[in-house]
This record gives sequence, C-alpha cells and structure tokens, in this order.
Amino acid sequence: MRLSQMLLVTLREDPALGEIPSHKLLVRAGYIRRVGSGIYAYLPLMWRVLQKVSRIVREEMNATGAQECLLPQVQPAELWQESGRWDTYTQAEGIMFALQDRKGRELGLGPTHEEVITAIARDLIRSYRQLPTHLYQIQTKFRDEIRPRFGLMRGREFIMKDGYSFHTDEESLRQTYADMYRAYSNILRRCGLQFRAVEADSGAIGGSGSTEFMVLADAGEDEILYTEDGRYAANVEKAVSLPTDAVESPFKIYEKRETPGTETIEKLCKFLNCSPTQVVKNVLYEATFDNGVRVLVLVSLRGDQEVNEVKLQNELTDLAPCYKGHTLLSLAIPDADAQAQWFRQALPLGYIAPDLSDEIIRPEKQVSPKFLRLADQTAVDLKNFVTGANESGYHVVGANWGQEFTLSERVVDVRKAQGGDRAPHDPSQTLQTARGIEIGHIFQLGTKYSTAMGATYTNEQGEEKPLVMGCYGVGVSRLAQAAVEQSYDKNGIIWPIAIAPYHAIVVIPNLNDSKQVAVAEQLYADLNAAGIETLLDDRSERAGVKFKDADLIGIPLRIVTGRALQAGKVEVVLRATLTATEIALEQVVPTLKNWIEAVP
Ligand code: ATP
Ligand code: MG
Repeated sequence: MRLSQMLLVTLREDPALGEIPSHKLLVRAGYIRRVGSGIYAYLPLMWRVLQKVSRIVREEMNATGAQECLLPQVQPAELWQESGRWDTYTQAEGIMFALQDRKGRELGLGPTHEEVITAIARDLIRSYRQLPTHLYQIQTKFRDEIRPRFGLMRGREFIMKDGYSFHTDEESLRQTYADMYRAYSNILRRCGLQFRAVEADSGAIGGSGSTEFMVLADAGEDEILYTEDGRYAANVEKAVSLPTDAVESPFKIYEKRETPGTETIEKLCKFLNCSPTQVVKNVLYEATFDNGVRVLVLVSLRGDQEVNEVKLQNELTDLAPCYKGHTLLSLAIPDADAQAQWFRQALPLGYIAPDLSDEIIRPEKQVSPKFLRLADQTAVDLKNFVTGANESGYHVVGANWGQEFTLSERVVDVRKAQGGDRAPHDPSQTLQTARGIEIGHIFQLGTKYSTAMGATYTNEQGEEKPLVMGCYGVGVSRLAQAAVEQSYDKNGIIWPIAIAPYHAIVVIPNLNDSKQVAVAEQLYADLNAAGIETLLDDRSERAGVKFKDADLIGIPLRIVTGRALQAGKVEVVLRATLTATEIALEQVVPTLKNWIEAVP
C-alpha cells in the first residue's frame, strides 16, 4: 500500500477524549475514529490488525476441532425470556439494547449468544453420538455499557470471538475447557502479550468454574491477586484469602459507652483506642429481586474488612427463591431518599448493631418486613467485640455472639480479599496485587441454559438428559488495543510483529531524488512479493514528518532509501529499539525475512 493513496490522517497532539495511552495513540495514529459514545470506526490500519488477531484466534480455535459459524445479532426476546435473562439484561444490568419491530415484537441486539446457540442445539442435537461439539463465531457484539470508555477497551459495539461447546457430561466439558485454556494461552502468546490466567467470578452468565485471561497493564480495570509461588491467581471479585489475625479485645466486660462523633471505624478506633479488628461493623444494602420484592440486607463483618459486592450479589442470587424470585435484579446502598422511604425513623448511621430492629422497616407490600442478616466469617470469629448500640453517639464494647447478640444463621464469605492477606493454600504466601485487562473468559456453564430452555439429548441408555455446556469468549477488539497498552513509547505505538498492520515501511526521504525513488519502488515490490507486508511512504512530505508518522503508527521495520544508497545500502530501523543498521540492497529481503520468521 502506498501512503499517498491511503486515508491516513495522523494528529500531532493527543486527542482531547483520549483517556489512556493506547486510546490516545490509536486515535492519533489514525487507527480508530470515534463516531459516538463507545462506538468507533476501525480505519484501514486497525482493520488489518483486527484481521490478524482474528486469524490467530481462528487458527487456534480450529486446531481444537471447534467449527466457525455466524449467528444472528438481532435476537427475539422470547429466547431470552426462556432462559430468564431478558429482565436482568434489559432492566437490571441494562446491558442489552432492546427494540421493537414494526409489529411490536420485542428484540434485542446480541450482547452474547448463549440463548441463540442453545435454541439451535435444542433443535439439532438429538443423540449422544453428536457430542461433543463446539461452534464459535467472530462477530460484533452490542452492550449498552454504563460507562463506555478507553476507546476499544469498553465499547458499546465491539468484536468478540465467542464459542459454545456441548457435552454429554462434566468430564467431557472439562476436557474442552482445558483445550480452551491452552488455546487462549496460545492466542495471547502469539499476539505478543504478557498475561495471567486467573480464577474468575461467573457473574450473570452463571455456571461453575471460570477462568479469565488478563493482560497485565496499569490501566487495566480489573484487580488481580496472586502469590509469588505461581499457585494462586484470582480476580479480586472472586479471590479468597485468610484475613490477618484479629488483635485480642481489651474489653472484657459488656457495656454501652458514649462515643460521640464516631460514625466511621477510624474515628471509633481512635476514640476507644482499639483496633478495627475488634469491631463488628454492619453495612446496609437494598436488594431487589426480579419479582419486584425488595429486601433490606444487613451484613456484619470485621471492622477492617470491606464487602465484596460481587460475592454478596452471588449470595443474594442464591437466596432469591426464599423471596419467591428467580434472581437478583439489583443491589444498592440505600441513599438518604431510599432510607426515608424504607424506614419509619432516621437510621443511627455509623452506630448500627447486628440486631437493628425489624420494627423500623415501614410496612409495604413489596418490601420484606424483616432484615436479611448475613454474618461474614470474620465477624463470627470475634470475641468481646465493639459494635453499634443502635443509637447515635453510642457503641457497645465487650459483646459476644450467643450472649448479647444472636448470630445470624447465614454465615457467608462476602469479604473482599486484599493484597497483603495470607493465601489459603499456603499461609506463608501473601497475596500480591496487579492490574489487568480482561481479554478472554472461559466458563463451565453446566446445564443452566439447557435446562431452562429444554435442550436435551438421548444418552446410550436411551434416557433424555440436558446438554452440558461450556462457553468461551475473547475480546478481539479489546485485545488489539491491549497490545498497544503494553507496548508503546513516547514516539508512538510499537506493534508486536504478529499483529502489526504491516511488517515494514519503506520511506523515501526526498521524492525529488530519482535514485531514492527507484530503489524504494523496487524494494517495495520485492518485499511484498516475498510475503513481507510493506507500506511505501511516497507522500510529498518532509522526511522528518515521514519518520515521525512511521514511529507513531508503529510499523516494526522501517527502511530508508537515504544517504546510505551511495554505498549500495539502505538504513533499516527497528521500531522497538529505534536501532539503525545499514544493509546492502540485495540483502534486504532475505535479512528482513529472517528477522520476521525469528519472532516466535
Ligand atoms: P467486563 O467484565 O470487562 O465487562 P465481561 O466479563 O462482561 O467483561 P464477557 O461476557 O466475559 O465480558 O465477554 C468476553 C470478552 O469480551 C471479555 O473477556 C472482553 O475481552 C470482551 N468484552 C466484554 N465487554 C466488552 C466491551 N464493552 N468492549 C470491548 N470488549 C469487551
Ligand atoms: Mg468476563
């Protein structure tokens, strides 16, 4: 491709909207253009990168025996109603773009395809002889993200590879899951990325085991906890740990104390001269289930700990049937307006005890008349603890479960693991933290969708069984940007060669020098003929501008037909290190070919 013919517009300055380096660079270097919030055009250079990533994804997927297909993006609401996800996806998470057709039928734009594929499997799979089988696609997904940001990292329209496997049993599922684990590791390695596979929460997609593939970068939205021994790594949403030991409580006698102005744990501990590990704090949430029932939730945990809301959501989802619901719609900390609505009197915020009376809940049809009291294990373990007295300005000290307070029957793990905590597998290891960008996610779904949608097969004994399913996603467009986030310098992008839009760029410093032009044209033709994807910068721009652009767009190899021509040579610059070597003209093609092939 000749730059003179290409629609390449680069910007000298950072764009106003760019939030992280990779986003700024992709806009500046003319790879992407924002069309609306979370909506981007992939310009020709970007499209080549995306095709290269897709090709690697395809090769690795096909190698496992998975087959490519293409499913519809416009999906009937009925399918999502069958699985029970229509309400969660259109209302609670609100991530699905929903619309009505001219006949008033409801449709959604696919944020993911479990429903569609399960409906197809229900129609086509009859017998165990057809299993296992695995279909995947590479396609645009739509998600009405609350906060679209960081360019392609969190778009509302983005490219994903998603695959779905069907099995007779869990064992067969685990084999495919292991194949996917390897395939995903290969994909990321081949794309030149540094990553870590971590245990993950399964979220609204549901199911048992799941692993996320995180590309390590400071700009990552996810926090990862891991141990140095390499035996444990998990998303903080899922991570477990041993809390630090609680300091023994000095309050041997139960009493109520006046503790004015101590509505935070910090102020309280200062006032009482005690450790936050001696305090039971009680955090209030408001849960709404899919049938409209609201429940006020009181979570007791040790004062130095935080609630992991993902774990709490999972607990509440499991409890939905107790409230005659199927699932949790939303979880929130009630604000002042909500408190005024739900309670008869002002709450003693900062002074709440685990036994805050149910009487204060205002009777209302859709509101549970009782608090749902959950106790985290860290609170359960405390003796002679400090907690609120349900009265502003007062706490109690020296309290015990089974004496002054009744322990909830629901003891749960809802605390957030933190860096510095000890690891359960080996308490001598402490958890380290890192930031990551979630690029891939593999799930063992089990029979959640097949049971809900009646997708069954007949086993060898002639019995009808629900299909066992797995699903596997890679954010193709997110991956491409993550590669930039991991590899750039002050001059611009440094593409890993495997996914660079072109391998090489031939730059003609002076278009008026016919020798420079002739040699460049020849090299351009020879390199492309040898399979080295090469650009030719034949624009009538100053040499300095051309060099700057070549660095900015990040092509791995730059060939300059400049001064060295007098000695029958050209200058070859490696983008990654900016080191220059002079190479004899006839050696250019074989040398570059060697370099490119040497990249793993
Ligand atoms: P996240 O937690 O980042 O919102 P997710 O867990 O909802 O992602 P999955 O449903 O697991 O995402 O989708 C599979 C992959 O698709 C993710 O691992 C990620 O790489 C990519 N992806 C998800 N949402 C987006 C988005 N809004 N923009 C770009 N890529 C995305
Ligand atoms: Mg995910």
